[in-house]
Amino acid sequence: MPEVLDPYEIAKIQLKKALDVLNYPDKESVFNRLSVPERILEVAIPVKMDDGTIKVFTGYRSQHNSARGPYKGGVRYHPNVSKHEVIALSMWMTWKCALADIPYGGGKGGVIVDPRKLSRRELEQLSRGYFRAISRIVGPDIDIPAPDVYTDPQIMAWFFDEYSKLYGYNAFGVVTAKPLELFGSLGRIYSTGYGTAVAAREAAKVAGINLQGATVAIQGYGNAGYYTAKFLHEWGAKIVAVSDTKGTIINRNGLDPDKVNEWKHNKSAKRSVIDYPDAEERKEGDSKYPLFMDVDIVIPAALENQITGENADNVKAKVISEAANGPTTPEADEILNKKGVIICPDFQANAGGVIVSYFEWVQNREGIIWTEEEVRRRLEEKIVNSFHAMYEAKQKYNVDWRTAAYIVAVDRVVKAMRLRGWL
Ligand code: NAD
Repeated sequence: MPEVLDPYEIAKIQLKKALDVLNYPDKESVFNRLSVPERILEVAIPVKMDDGTIKVFTGYRSQHNSARGPYKGGVRYHPNVSKHEVIALSMWMTWKCALADIPYGGGKGGVIVDPRKLSRRELEQLSRGYFRAISRIVGPDIDIPAPDVYTDPQIMAWFFDEYSKLYGYNAFGVVTAKPLELFGSLGRIYSTGYGTAVAAREAAKVAGINLQGATVAIQGYGNAGYYTAKFLHEWGAKIVAVSDTKGTIINRNGLDPDKVNEWKHNKSAKRSVIDYPDAEERKEGDSKYPLFMDVDIVIPAALENQITGENADNVKAKVISEAANGPTTPEADEILNKKGVIICPDFQANAGGVIVSYFEWVQNREGIIWTEEEVRRRLEEKIVNSFHAMYEAKQKYNVDWRTAAYIVAVDRVVKAMRLRGWL
């Protein structure tokens, strides 16, 4: 059995690795400061259930670092939420926001609950109760939550409303990814996939691949996978394979991403891509197949730990742009690096969501609404810049792509901390 590491331990190992390369004279002090969150709040959330009993749920909000701005990060509703997971995720948000160069630190929240077992009324009570309980430590200039696993724009609307009632004004800037009717941002729905596609496009340039006619295979066809496919297709690439939990479909002449998506959601008997009629070939039950195909670009857009030490040698693509969080294990990273594969790591390639969250906050604070074109143009610029900052660090320090991304992010945070006199 492979050892299952605590996410907080993994986050600390990654930080240490970046600090070892950066090699500041005071790197031990820097590690001591950055390896713990500035604040973590644990709250009890009583909810009157539909049967009249009162249940008490446990929630957290971890605020890792605020050197570059207010804390930013989602709230997760899941039975496996733990204090350590929330801390690790808040640390990753610090690096993600720093690499994207948006003026935020890192935060993350979570509630231990299976939301699918709650009625809508119970879910609303839980959401309002959680936000009331953390209301003293969040705010448009302090900490700005957003959705994560099993939380959505409706829950953000309840958070926003609860906070606004408590403080007596419409605090639109207190959460992001709100519904459009409550001044969420245009472009939010496809922001992650758009960013992943831009990252893949930049990496393809470095690899000498012409995007016109370049072949792409995608694991996972949800929000992130579909929109990545859609934009790469629009820019001339050929989507030759996509998969979901039921298996993989292949068409060497190229699949139409919109038609496949329409099929999965509205026509498929299995609510899957697998019975899509315009496929040349199917691999039923093989969801990983796209990862190892002979294509130019691979997009993991499903789960963590998909490319591992055991299978990384089978990767044939020259570029991997990670829409999913943590799809590549550290052993796999080493193997891929030796093979010369360009990897746009998760917190670089899937930062589109948090970048557009930042744009939403800017619009809300200014009381203006940007056009979709404006949002897209600015998002593209941010992803292009973070890719090139990572590429420069890779060349300067002669490290793998992921370490290069960490170096850029950690160095930005450390510089801000030094200027503020925190180190
Ligand atoms: P989603 O629920 O919309 O879609 C997930 C897709 O993956 C579904 O098509 C599902 O069938 C498929 N899938 C699940 N297990 C699979 C497997 N073993 N093999 C192949 N396919 C499988 O989720 P999403 O929002 O697209 O998120 C996908 C990944 O991207 C996750 O790791 C998520 O954390 C990450 N991510 C998403 C966003 C976002 O804004 N959507 C932002 C950052 C990171």
